[in-house]
Amino acid sequence: MTQPKACGHNEWVFVSKKTRDESNMVEARKHPLRMPVLVLNATYEPINITGTRRAIVLLLKGIAITEEENGAFLHAARLSMRVPSVIRLTEFRKIPHRTRALSRKNILMRDRHTCQFCGQVFNPSDLTLDHVIPRSRGGHTDWDNLVTCCHACNNRKGNRLPEEVGVRLLRQPRPFTLHTSRQLMRLMGQSEHKWRKYLFY
Ligand SMILES: [Zn+2]
Repeated sequence: MTQPKACGHNEWVFVSKKTRDESNMVEARKHPLRMPVLVLNATYEPINITGTRRAIVLLLKGIAITEEENGAFLHAARLSMRVPSVIRLTEFRKIPHRTRALSRKNILMRDRHTCQFCGQVFNPSDLTLDHVIPRSRGGHTDWDNLVTCCHACNNRKGNRLPEEVGVRLLRQPRPFTLHTSRQLMRLMGQSEHKWRKYLFY
């Protein structure tokens, strides 16, 4: 299980366990402490989406400051604070443009929990990964040969090529880059009105 990476680490994967995938984030919208938080670089460039808990840790450590609040208050034993909706890092961080780690979680997120053969959206537990070109036929385990797939489509396809079973990929699989992250942020920003001015510039 991937833990949220500490600040200063090269790879900025802030997504906490609770809100680690987009569908969870959408489901969790109603609870103020489970709302996604947009993370901006010191230069106001959007760089990631994190969970509220992780965002509060960054605020308490002085690594980030609140730019927008979500309207809720957090009351804990020795702490009372407004829950952020957008935070900004106090120091500029260089965000590498390299690809994210190849993992089931990241592939599901890249494909937005959508089976790439039938186009239906599923819960993560109802999804598997499919090698487009089966391993038994020389297919590699890589970003451009792995897609999100439901169990039914996976069984139907078996060790065959998509064209052999008469199915087509929704889209050509690509590595999960900063560009993909930005697309996801924009998608989520459509329903988070406080994010808009940071995302649609
Ligand atoms: Zn399917």
